[in-house]
Amino acid sequence: MPLVDLHTHTHFSDGTSSPEEVVQVALKRGVQLFSLTDHDTTDGTARAAAVCQEHGLKFVYGVEISTGEYDQLHFTGYNVDITNTQFQAFLTQNRQDRKNRILKVVTQLQQAGVNLTSQEVFSCAANTISRAHVADALTKKKIAHNRQDAFKRFLVQGKPGYVAPIGASAVQAIAQIKKAGGLAVIAHPGIVSDHWDFPKWVEAGLDGIEVFYPAHGYGMRQDLLSLARKYGLFATAGSDYHGPRGGRVIAPGINLPQDHYNRLLNKLFG
Ligand code: AMP
Ligand code: MN
Ligand code: MN
Ligand code: MN
Repeated sequence: MPLVDLHTHTHFSDGTSSPEEVVQVALKRGVQLFSLTDHDTTDGTARAAAVCQEHGLKFVYGVEISTGEYDQLHFTGYNVDITNTQFQAFLTQNRQDRKNRILKVVTQLQQAGVNLTSQEVFSCAANTISRAHVADALTKKKIAHNRQDAFKRFLVQGKPGYVAPIGASAVQAIAQIKKAGGLAVIAHPGIVSDHWDFPKWVEAGLDGIEVFYPAHGYGMRQDLLSLARKYGLFATAGSDYHGPRGGRVIAPGINLPQDHYNRLLNKLFG
């Protein structure tokens, strides 16, 4: 079965590795089709593309867009024209929304008695900021053990640093991907299953579903495959690799059944 990864991150967002390092580990694992999908930025993609080209690894331009509707309601865009100025302006606005959210997170943590400044958080981020960088700052100051610990104690709903996401709607995110010539995919739908609205997303132009994802069990994959059939969507595979200190999967690469792989290649390159 082909090993695919259409969902990875670098330190241009909240991953802990460079684009070159992520591609190198993907190559070592035997990944055959790769995309870098940093949160709300495409700044690392040219570097990833160059390394993929050098090694003959099939590369797809990608980005993961956050919505302000719900936490973790994210859409990945593939084959987007990254030189499209309207699309880049949209990403810039999303990054600004993220920054405003993080400022609120820090204020709330301070009010809860946590010794942390926004400068300490910003110094952990190179480009797109996220709650993961708040977690990194808390870890650096030994207030938390690691990212997982910081999220659990401070950053998820019900905890002192929780602030609802700020940003575009799902329909706007899909529409922006489509306007920039891309294919829109719902990322890790299994972790936002309370907020599914496939009819609305499909009407907005949704093309695919990230079915093969580490946190999706067998039942979830079956449910998503039947939704894909119902709405004529393709299936993708992504690990959501965030690097060795990312607190989640330890390596890129997800097995994608051959029939879905063929269909995906056809959509992306056909
Ligand atoms: P944000 O984009 O600011 O909402 O932050 C969410 C990001 O933090 C996600 O993209 C994940 O990469 C990461 N994340 C979310 N939950 C956890 C967790 N429990 N442990 C480690 N990283 C997490
Ligand atoms: Mn992330
Ligand atoms: Mn995501
Ligand atoms: Mn991701």
